[in-house]
This record gives sequence, C-alpha cells and structure tokens, in this order.
Amino acid sequence: DLFYRNIPKVELHAHLNGSVSFQTIEKLISRKPELNIEHSMTAIGKGQRRTLDECFEVFKVIHKLVDTEEAILLVATDVIREFAADGVKYLELRSTPREEKSTGLTKRTYLETVIRAIQQCKTQGVDIDVRFLVAIDRRNGTEVAMETVKLAEEFMLSSDGLVVGIDLSGDPTVGHGKELLPALERAKNCGLKSSLHLSEVRSQLEESDLLLNLPPDRIGHGTFLHPEMGGSQSLVDKVVKNNIPLELCLTSNVKGQTVPSYSEHHFQYWYQLGHPCVLCTDDKGVFCTDLSQEYQLAASTFGLSREDVWKLSQRAIDCIFAEEAVKQRLRKRWNELHGQVF
Ligand code: 5GP
Repeated sequence: DLFYRNIPKVELHAHLNGSVSFQTIEKLISRKPELNIEHSMTAIGKGQRRTLDECFEVFKVIHKLVDTEEAILLVATDVIREFAADGVKYLELRSTPREEKSTGLTKRTYLETVIRAIQQCKTQGVDIDVRFLVAIDRRNGTEVAMETVKLAEEFMLSSDGLVVGIDLSGDPTVGHGKELLPALERAKNCGLKSSLHLSEVRSQLEESDLLLNLPPDRIGHGTFLHPEMGGSQSLVDKVVKNNIPLELCLTSNVKGQTVPSYSEHHFQYWYQLGHPCVLCTDDKGVFCTDLSQEYQLAASTFGLSREDVWKLSQRAIDCIFAEEAVKQRLRKRWNELHGQVF
C-alpha cells in the first residue's frame, strides 16, 4: 500500500549493522567470498522465528563482513539511502564502535567513517536528516562503557551536531545495568541524550527500575515493563511521569520471539494509555522489514485509521534528539506533505 510509503516518517531505533539490506550484503559477500557466508546467515525471512540468542549470532556474521572503513562507508551510505527511499525524513542511526586489529579499524575511525557517510549523503542531496547515537554494548562492562561515552562526548563536540546521544544495547541476558550506571550518568551530565534498551526480556525488573531513575530520554522496546507482562505499575508510573517515549519494533520482537504474536505486542498497551510511542524497525536487514511495513502492520493489527497513522508519525517528531529548530522544520514539512498523502 503506497500510503505507508508516502507518509513522511521518523526512524529512531535502527542499529546500523542490523539494517544492512539484501543488496548490500550481496556486495559485501562478493568482496569476501573466502568467508563462505550465505544470505540465510544474515537475515530472518518471512514467517521465520529465531531466539534472541540466535539473533545475536546473526550480528556476529554481519560484523565479519563489515570490518573495514570501506565496508562501513558502503553500509552506512546504503542504509541511509534506503531509509530515504522508504519515506523516512529524519533518521537516528545507532552503532557500536568496533575495533578490528586485522584491518587497522579503530573505534575512532569507525565513528569518523559513519559521520563521513552521513555528510556524504547530505552533500549528495539525499532527502533525509540523519543524526547518530553511539552505542554501548552492555556485555563489555563498566570500563568500555565509560570509554564509549567519552568518545561520544568528543564526537558530539566535533561532529557539527550529528552525534546527539548514546544507546545502550547488546545481549540483554548478559551484564547488569548497575555496572554501566557511572557511564550513563556521565553521558547525561555532558549533554548526551540517551536511549536505553529496557526490559527487553523478562527478569530485568530491578535493572529497569534502577535505570529509569536516570531517567533515560527514550526507551527501546520496554516489552516487560507493564504488569500484564510481569512488570509492575511502579515501573509504568515512572515511565509515564517522566513522559519517556518508547521505541517499538513489532517485527523484531515477533521474529526474535520476545513477543508471541503481533496482536499481543505491547504497542497496544502504551498506545491506549496515550503514551508517546514511536514505531521503528530495529534491524530492517536482519528482520527483512522497512518502516512503511511496520506502520502498515500496526495499522492492520490494531485497527488504526489513516489519520491515526499520520498522527503516529507526526508525534514521533516530538521524540527526536536533534534540537528544536530541526523539530520545527520537520513539523513544517509534515504540514506541507499532508495534502499530497491524503
Ligand atoms: P551495530 O551496533 O554493530 O551497528 O549493530 C548490531 C548490534 O546492535 C548488535 O551486536 C547488538 O549489540 C545491537 N542490537 C541490534 N538489535 C538488537 C536488539 O534487538 N536488542 C538488543 N539488545 N541489541 C540489539
């Protein structure tokens, strides 16, 4: 349905290496045939399900293909262009800076390369505004988290406003938020916004409670925060009181089996509360989706009208990390496009 492609959209939860399309993976495989990687190892097709553990194995395979500055530049440029082609007008990409001894890649050159890709797309006139979040992989513990925040801080000051915040992600069954608290507090104090994966799996109640005290600026997933999912009313109250938007990724959660079916997705719970909810893709490459499809799925699953869908995309503007002037520009753009879409 072209309606979903045509409405202007905001994407706030997209992991760079999870967003690599089939076409780009093909290019990467042809550059490194010796790895014997097949496309079935880098994506989860229609109707397929994997455990979250298996999803994290998929990222490891992709990381083998994306281990040089050239590969990062290719991947970031392609991903940005693909989001733009899908009608995304504002994108916050996130990625974990990685070092690769064998190719000389450092965390710093990793970030510089992503920033270069964003600048190149802008110079080439790609119709999308892009910002970047530096991701902390939770499994790497206290010191790496702190080092990552320092790097993010440096880039925030040197990237012309392109680096706007941090993300906390990685395998939710590994590590504990309390080890990462000093780094997250530092990020907050230096003006970096934060989007944290919270309660993505069951049994993270104590951690979510602790991290909600920061409080974060946005929440990724939050699948198990509310009482019906084993969370608690006090967690919900904290989220509501601080008005912390949720980034919700339907296909990712269903394919990664943290949510049993589309109709049981927690979008319903938070949307009914009138709480800010932003539909996102998470990993459009790995989960074989795009943002238009996610909007369409939400509409068909939860009976949203076209006007509801429009409002959902428009309200996402309020949740972006870029400065107020960017929000104003986007709101104007939405108003201009409204007539063309309906
Ligand atoms: P990258 O940071 O390398 O660009 O993107 C892949 C990484 O994003 C993964 O290794 C993982 O740390 C993180 N990631 C991607 N999808 C998910 C997800 O659904 N949940 C969590 N917790 N982390 C994810």
